[in-house]
Amino acid sequence: MSSSPPFRLSRRRLAAWYTGVMSLILIAGSYAIYRLVVHARWMHLERGMQQMAIVLERRLQPMLEQPGQIDLSQGEQLPGLCVKDMPCFSSARPEPFITQLQTELDDMSSLAKDRYCIRFLDLAGNPVATLSIPQTNTSCTSKKFWKWLRDGDREHYHQKRYPLHTLNHDEWGTLQIARSLNTLDIYLLGVELTLLGLLLLAIALVGYASWWLAGMAMQPVQQSYERMQQFTADAAHELRTPVAAIRAMVQAALRSSELSPEEVNATLQTVDRQSQRLSRLMQDLLVLSQLEQDKETHTRKICDLSLLLKDVIDEFQGIAINAQLQLRLELQTAGPVHVLGQPEQLHRAVANLVSNGIQYTPAGGQVTVQLLNEATYEATIRVKDTGVGISPEAQSKIFDRFYRVDKERSRHSGGAGLGLAIVQAIVHAHKGTVHVESEPGRGSVFTIRLPVLLVL
Ligand code: ADP
Repeated sequence: MSSSPPFRLSRRRLAAWYTGVMSLILIAGSYAIYRLVVHARWMHLERGMQQMAIVLERRLQPMLEQPGQIDLSQGEQLPGLCVKDMPCFSSARPEPFITQLQTELDDMSSLAKDRYCIRFLDLAGNPVATLSIPQTNTSCTSKKFWKWLRDGDREHYHQKRYPLHTLNHDEWGTLQIARSLNTLDIYLLGVELTLLGLLLLAIALVGYASWWLAGMAMQPVQQSYERMQQFTADAAHELRTPVAAIRAMVQAALRSSELSPEEVNATLQTVDRQSQRLSRLMQDLLVLSQLEQDKETHTRKICDLSLLLKDVIDEFQGIAINAQLQLRLELQTAGPVHVLGQPEQLHRAVANLVSNGIQYTPAGGQVTVQLLNEATYEATIRVKDTGVGISPEAQSKIFDRFYRVDKERSRHSGGAGLGLAIVQAIVHAHKGTVHVESEPGRGSVFTIRLPVLLVL
C-alpha cells in the first residue's frame, strides 16, 4: 500500500519507537546476562583460589614448623620458591609437587591454567617468601607487582589473603595469592563479542519487525483517513452545487434593475428548492456522523415493526399514487414483531428504501413492503420494486457514501447518494444486516434483517 508523507513519517516514528524500546529491553537483558556470567566466573575464580590456598597449606605444612619461618631443607621441592635474601629454587624438569598441584587444581577449576603469584607473609605482615606458578612467572618477587597487581606482560591479577597454619595448627602467618585474570578476560571478551553480535542481530530483526508492524498498525488508520478525506471531498462537492445555484440566482436577481413578480417568484422558488436540498444534505451528513460516532441520541425503545411499516406506507401512499405506482404492505407474521431500537431511525431506514423504490420504478409498477418472521430470533423486512434494477457491479457499491449509479437522475431527484449509506448505518447500529438482490430491468429487492425482542 503506497502511503502519503504524514503516514510514512508516522510509520517511521512508530517503528523507531518500537525499535528504541525493544532495543533498550534487549540491551538491559544482555547486560543482565553478561553480569550474571561475570558473577558466575568470578565466583568460580575465587573458589579456585580458595582451593589453591587449601591445597598449598596442606602441602606446605611440613615446611612450616615455626611461625613465620620456612624449612629450607625441602625448598627444592618447590621450584619457583624465593625465600627473602636467598636465591630462588628452580628446576628444569616438572616437579612432582607442582604437577600434583596442577592436577588437583585441574580437577577443581577450569581456570587452573592461570598464572599465580603467591606470597608468604609472617604474623607481622612482612613478606617471607614468594612462589611462582609456573616457575617462569618471575614477577612475583617484584614489589611493584604486589603494588599494582600487574606483571611484566601487563596481565591483571586478582589477589586474596588466607590464614596459614603450622603443623601444630598454630598461626604461621598469611598466604597471599594473586591469580592472573588472563583466562577470565579472554573468556569474557568471547562472551562480550557473542552477546554484542547477537544483540546487533536482534536489534536488526526488531527494526525490521517494527517497520512491518508499524505498517500493519497504520493500515486501518490510513484507510479510515483516506475514507474521511474522500467523504470530506464528496461532501464539499455536494454542498457546493446548491450553494452555487443559490448564489447564481441571487446575483442575477441583484443585477437586474427591475424584476417582474413572476421572476421574483421563480427566483425565490429556486432558492427555496436549493435550500431544502442543502438542508436535507446537511441533515443526512449529521445523521451519518452521529451513527458513526455511535451516539445514542435517543434511548432505545420497543418498536412494533408492523405499526412502523404501516406508518411508512401511509406517508408514501400519496407520492406513490402521484407516480402512478402501487404501494402495498404485506404482513406475513403470526403476531406482532418487536425489536429494541430507535423507532425514528428504523422509520428513516425503511422510508429511504421505499422512497428509492418509488423513485426508480416507472409508472404502472409496484413497490411492496413485506414483514416476515422467518426465524424466531430475527425479523425480515423486504422492500421489493419492479423498477429499473441495479447492475451486479453497482450492487456492491450502492451502500457507499455518495455513490450514485445515474448521477444525473439522482441529482435531479435531490439524492446525494447518502440514502443507502444511512440505511446501512442504521441497520448496523441495530445489529442487523442489509443486502440487495437485483436484476437490471426487472426490479430490486432490499432485505433488512433485525434481531427480534423475544417477549416472554
Ligand atoms: P440517492 O439518494 O442518490 O438515491 P442512495 O444511496 O439512496 O442515493 O442510492 C444509491 C444509488 O443506488 C442510487 O443512485 C441508485 O442508482 C441506486 N438505487 C438505490 N435504490 C434503487 C432501487 N430501488 N432501484 C434501482 N436503483 C436503486
